[in-house]
Amino acid sequence: MRNYTQFYIDGQWVDPIAPRTAQVVNPATEEVSGTISLGSAVDVDKAVAAARRAFATFGETSAKERLDLLEAILAEYLKRETELGEAVSEEMGAPMSLACGFHTLLGKGHLSTAIEVLKDFKFEEQRGVTMIRKEPIGVCGLITPWNWPMNQTCVKIFPALAAGCTMILKPPQLAPYSAQILAEILHDAGVPAGVFNMVQGKGSEIGTALSTHEDVDMISFTGSEPVGVQIQKDAADTVKRVGLELGGKSAWIVLDDASLATNVAAATGGMMGNSGQTCSAGSRLLVPNARMDDAIAAATEAANGVTVGDPKGNFAMGPVVSKSQYEIIQGYIEKGLEEGAKLIAGGLGKPDGLDKGYYVKPTVFVGTNHMVIAREEIFGPVLVIIGYDDVDHAVEIANDSNFGLGGYVSGEDLDAARAVSRRMRTGAIWVNGGFDFHAPFGGYKRSGNGREWGEHGFAEYLETKSVVGWNQA
Ligand code: NAD
Repeated sequence: MRNYTQFYIDGQWVDPIAPRTAQVVNPATEEVSGTISLGSAVDVDKAVAAARRAFATFGETSAKERLDLLEAILAEYLKRETELGEAVSEEMGAPMSLACGFHTLLGKGHLSTAIEVLKDFKFEEQRGVTMIRKEPIGVCGLITPWNWPMNQTCVKIFPALAAGCTMILKPPQLAPYSAQILAEILHDAGVPAGVFNMVQGKGSEIGTALSTHEDVDMISFTGSEPVGVQIQKDAADTVKRVGLELGGKSAWIVLDDASLATNVAAATGGMMGNSGQTCSAGSRLLVPNARMDDAIAAATEAANGVTVGDPKGNFAMGPVVSKSQYEIIQGYIEKGLEEGAKLIAGGLGKPDGLDKGYYVKPTVFVGTNHMVIAREEIFGPVLVIIGYDDVDHAVEIANDSNFGLGGYVSGEDLDAARAVSRRMRTGAIWVNGGFDFHAPFGGYKRSGNGREWGEHGFAEYLETKSVVGWNQA
């Protein structure tokens, strides 16, 4: 049992001002795995005051000093990588191979990338008589979701530190363990008191206290669209910058010249990864109508081949994060059936033999883009295959969405695939796969307004100042 009832404020582990605890449930067993404290607005006040005090000196540090600090953090992170992976698996149900693999690799990747970017980052640039300076924005509130816990905390904390900001992290209540270990890592690496603070608790309390706080300069939020909207409203009175990374309903277009079997299998497997709880997952798979039968055969085989079970075992997919998430997903599967979508794999209920734990069957529908299951983010292992007539039709379907986070294009003719990528109204597109920690990540439309990852991720935490007359003409 984990007992994480203290917050990290001003370089120390402290008790909440008003003691209140909540139990954390292991989604694989439905049993309590530990306890956290739920903070209140007064804990936030204390953390913000510490961050403000620390900003006076940390905001003035040199890039070299911050680089040394990030390198010290990397050394500590490497020592505790397995522990972080175990915590991720326990809190949100990812299979151990994924939690100790890609989950922790993402955290390490954002840290190493912040180091690389900081080495060459130009905080000052002279243009004529003017010096354009990039300065840290100040005290930042970082609010994160549970689905890729290490990715989301690290993609915010390390660019913010690199920029010279101080911060208060509010981790997700459903997945609070890995953030606690991360706070220990930052402490052990010698992050100065007050630069990093962490308060656990409910979004409606801790999150709101940060968004409305007079002395918080910006909020970086990753999570659902309705909460993003609320945060923007809450932050409006104090005119803070709000970076939003929200949901998605991304299209994967398999072009006519692509290998259908390979790409449909990859898209189906990709959708089921992390139990479908990935904001940029290709949840709408677009295939040529003329090849629909082959696509159905390939997707059915791929979905039925996804093994589901205990995160400690050798399975491709674990449970989804919580009972309520399980029920929401079941509701969408039911909706798909009601709307007349054709179920070709999975369906309602738990996979055979998995009565305990929030396990969902890897599910594939063939439907249309007008169906609710093609329009709303399900955030579970549910794929919708949609047929298209020609490339124009495929692009039209892909863009016919309120969201605009990710996109995928598979095709042999690279120029044709690139042309399609230009026409898609989304923030990140993968042409025939690939991975790049320096590629900016963020959404168009209701998928948000921020850009994280690499150098673009620094911009969120920087103000721009012009000093005219720096050079006297
Ligand atoms: P969520 O919006 O419910 O919660 C996210 C965080 O916000 C949590 O820490 C929560 O406690 C907090 N919160 C809740 N209400 C709040 C309020 N009123 N004010 C301030 N904070 C509040 O999202 P979730 O269920 O944790 O995560 C899933 C969502 O995150 C999905 O929609 C997914 O697409 C999105 N997501 C987006 C990205 C991206 O980069 N675009 C990445 C991962 C997840």
